[in-house]
Amino acid sequence: MCPECPNCQACSALVVRNGHFFRRSDSRRIQSFRCKACSKYFSNATFSECYRQKKRRINEPLRDLLCKRVSLRDAARHFHVSRTTIARRLTFLAAQSRRRNAVLLQQIQAEFGAFDRVQFDDLITAEHTKCKPISSTLVVQEDTRIILGHCVAQIPAFGLLAAIAKKKYGFRADHSRRVRERLFKQLTNLLPKYTTFRTDEHKHYPVVIKRHFPSAAHATHKGAKGSVSGQGELKKVGRDPLFSINHSLAMLRDKMSRLSRRSWNLSKHIERLDDHLAIYIESHNRAIYKKMLKKKYLEI
Ligand SMILES: [Zn+2]
Repeated sequence: MCPECPNCQACSALVVRNGHFFRRSDSRRIQSFRCKACSKYFSNATFSECYRQKKRRINEPLRDLLCKRVSLRDAARHFHVSRTTIARRLTFLAAQSRRRNAVLLQQIQAEFGAFDRVQFDDLITAEHTKCKPISSTLVVQEDTRIILGHCVAQIPAFGLLAAIAKKKYGFRADHSRRVRERLFKQLTNLLPKYTTFRTDEHKHYPVVIKRHFPSAAHATHKGAKGSVSGQGELKKVGRDPLFSINHSLAMLRDKMSRLSRRSWNLSKHIERLDDHLAIYIESHNRAIYKKMLKKKYLEI
């Protein structure tokens, strides 16, 4: 049966088949159609998310590489495509990942219950130069390490770099609190009111929790010294109460080349960091969900 016309929404009875064409980018034969009402042509490809993409073969392998410590430039060299193609595909894959992750979180909730014990913390990175730092908040479920939300915000340089940064790049506003508030507003749709939060002793955390989750419990823990093998995120203590969040942050640093320590890779744009995180988070959550399902059905 023919599809409806995407141009004038004429019913499928008014649409006739109009031969095929061969799509080189993935070697498929695509059915073409003509609408008798508006005389426009369209095909099965018109309805695809990848409509008009020339390199659709790279989509899924690229998604995989971006979660395996490959930089954007190396990905371009790997696929023999331009950096621009990779940059555009990053945004496309990120939008797809955000949609898929939202569905996945609903699925996990339906299968394993509400996310009522969570931990969150900030990860510091930079865009273009260390003089322009970025703070990224990550919220994870305790024990399972399912990532429930993230946000990125520019912050001013601190410590020894503060004076140099101000002289070189001028004033840099701190958006971290505003962006964290926005993240928590979104989280009110996902987390129950009685959620238990566990964090370090950051000053803004009790404020933001109180505002969006007034009846939630909040436990704070003192920060500990980072270990080198854990990318500075895993701590040198016997039993870390914030292990879930610290381990997740260490994984981000290891699996995303732009977040690695002692590397010359760095984000160029804060929006692209946000996109890259969205792609990683979906792949991370999917892997954990698969493990949880396996464990659940083996136990039965
Ligand atoms: Zn039509």
